[in-house]
Amino acid sequence: SKIVIAIDGFSGCGKSSTAKAVAKALDYTYIDSGAMYRAATLHFLNKLTVLINPKDVRNSLESLNISFQINPANQKQETYLNGLNVEKEIRTMRVSDYVSEVSKIKEVRQELVAQQQKLGKKKGVVMDGRDIGTVVFPDAELKVFMTADLNIRAARRQKEILEKGDLVEIQKIIQNLDERDKTDSSRKESPLKKAEDAVDIDTSLLEFDDQVDRIVSLAKE
Ligand code: C5P
Repeated sequence: SKIVIAIDGFSGCGKSSTAKAVAKALDYTYIDSGAMYRAATLHFLNKLTVLINPKDVRNSLESLNISFQINPANQKQETYLNGLNVEKEIRTMRVSDYVSEVSKIKEVRQELVAQQQKLGKKKGVVMDGRDIGTVVFPDAELKVFMTADLNIRAARRQKEILEKGDLVEIQKIIQNLDERDKTDSSRKESPLKKAEDAVDIDTSLLEFDDQVDRIVSLAKE
């Protein structure tokens, strides 16, 4: 029978590409919780809201509507913010540089966690993020915690960005990944940490297909 698979870990470990491939292999739904934090960040950046006053944050959250749609041209899942396709924009360094600050805000997390729990209600779900196994789905049947060497992660991310036609300096990527990991791990509200019952996967030296197979076989146990 179908289960919930929670995949957490540091930034740029390949969580989302792994989670997508696992979902495809098992015919599950993939949900990118990071895309939701990124869309919320874009929403705040667009509104130029000063995120200091909890009341302003709450007001701004009321007009935040995030959804996912499959692009029929390539079958890829894309993120929508208030009806607009923001898939490309939420992956820019502008959003990457602010997302961990926005993700610290209690009201933001409460709202997005509630939405994520709703999306995961029907089982047969793979969700990746930072607090999925600890907070969003503490009862998930399978929890994975992914890590990888920072330099390897940055090089992979640079290649990914390059394939989309952009060149970002490796130092800038290293700094962004490292800063996000530190902010995500040290925040008060549901920090990034390994759930006690999560399986560790270090992807530094693993081939992509092997890490996918590993999770798929764990899911079938
Ligand atoms: O997964 P991704 O790297 O796109 O996530 C972007 C950021 O969103 C993370 O660095 C983190 O600050 C935040 N995030 C979070 N909790 C999640 C998923 C993402 O705080 N479940």
